[in-house]
Amino acid sequence: MGKNYILALDQGTTSSRAIIYDHAGKIRAMAQKEFRQIFPKPGFVEHDPMEIYSSQISVAAEVLAQMEIHDNAIAAIGITNQRETTIVWNRKTGKPVYNAIVWQDRRTSAYCDQLKKEGLQSLIAGKTGLEIDAYFSATKIRWILDNVPGARKTAEKGELAFGTVDSWLIWNLSNGKAHLTDISNASRTMLFNIHSMKWDEDLIRLFDIPASMLPGVKANSTYFADTSGLIFSSKIPISGVAGDQQAALFGQMCVHKGMMKNTYGTGCFIMLNTGNKAVRSKNRMLTTIAWQLCGETTYALEGSVFVGGAVVQWLRDGLQFIKTAQSSEKLALSVEDTGGIIFVPAFTGLGAPHWKQDARGMIYGITRGTTRAHITRAALEAIAYQSYDVIKAMQQDAGFTVENLRVDGGAAANNFLMQMQADVLHTNVQRPVVLESTSLGAAYFAGLAVGFWQDVKEIESQWKVEKEFVPTQSPEAIEKSIEAWHEAVRRVLQ
Ligand code: ADP
Repeated sequence: MGKNYILALDQGTTSSRAIIYDHAGKIRAMAQKEFRQIFPKPGFVEHDPMEIYSSQISVAAEVLAQMEIHDNAIAAIGITNQRETTIVWNRKTGKPVYNAIVWQDRRTSAYCDQLKKEGLQSLIAGKTGLEIDAYFSATKIRWILDNVPGARKTAEKGELAFGTVDSWLIWNLSNGKAHLTDISNASRTMLFNIHSMKWDEDLIRLFDIPASMLPGVKANSTYFADTSGLIFSSKIPISGVAGDQQAALFGQMCVHKGMMKNTYGTGCFIMLNTGNKAVRSKNRMLTTIAWQLCGETTYALEGSVFVGGAVVQWLRDGLQFIKTAQSSEKLALSVEDTGGIIFVPAFTGLGAPHWKQDARGMIYGITRGTTRAHITRAALEAIAYQSYDVIKAMQQDAGFTVENLRVDGGAAANNFLMQMQADVLHTNVQRPVVLESTSLGAAYFAGLAVGFWQDVKEIESQWKVEKEFVPTQSPEAIEKSIEAWHEAVRRVLQ
């Protein structure tokens, strides 16, 4: 029987998914399972590591069953995961010493403020490419060592292991044989030097973390470990690992310098491939490792829009203007323009490039003639404008402009929004046939390592655009609209 498939494990923040891809990069089966979000106190967000693992295994079994194939038909496994989420476990027992502290968790923000006050931002950003923030793993590991009784002592004896979710899955899938992570996940821990490609001794000392806890770091598309006989009946190589945004960039085949993707989910996540150069941002974007392939490191700039598809959710659930997110498109197109409405959805403050945490949302220009269609249209336009602002700032940092934008995520299905994005950026917007860029990227990494695909060129030639949006408005007309948007943003910032 041929090894005709790649199994991608996509371990996300709210659910675990498994997807089987064939040689053409087509989805053959998919399963998803949600798991518990644990909120022990305000600002605390945790997951049960055992549940992360069991949900992941159960969806893997489900896709094999759906296809009625034996696991020896799987050539390799690729893993992609929620980044930064921190798990510490005992090497002997394999048991976590505490719940997984999720990337969203803010319990260490006071400690982060203190580090900023001590003037460590520039040192840390220089080494890691990251802004000091509670998101990243380092302060979460320290919290566990300082707060879980006995943890520090056991760690100092070399008995505890730290891992992001990828490491935790690899450890369990290999039945405790491999304690590894990949370079993209490592680059989100705030402990990894993205220039020397090593755990940084100064940072390990600063955060007071025993070096013995840290996993070995590997490139993205290489052999990590075999699955143990406990889970699958055949040994399957795990040979592709990457954090979710990096995997999405690869899944979109943004493999050359200057290529960019935007994922339109609850928020928007934008990544720009900056080639072999780690660009330091002047706009507080993050510099991160995209991947390492064939010994070459590719870097990326990363920026996000806090409120993307969430504004559509608010129109649906908060204002009850629409029944479904999809119907926002039809409603927006039922009017010729926004009738002068500009909507700045700064529900949780404004991010890049404005950075004002206490900013709040505004709907500007309401008249007696304003309808829900105008407001809905303005909300969708705001997603495009906010993405534009991040992308412009990134281009400024990188010193070049992008030729097109590749898109995915739930709201990328909205044709009005995608056309607007093409117009505002004055750039073509490409929506691929397979919108599951994240798991596809993990599958590609895994498949490349085992010769399932020969090289990146082969994959590039099979990656297909479903629809391309070409700018239709004149740059002058769009310039005017962008000015009006910025005028509204200025009012919000006041
Ligand atoms: P996440 O991974 O963040 O949960 P998804 O990629 O599943 O997000 O996308 C869901 C988001 O996209 C929701 O916020 C939803 O409001 C929005 N959305 C989904 N479909 C559409 C659509 N056709 N038009 C506009 N927004 C949409």
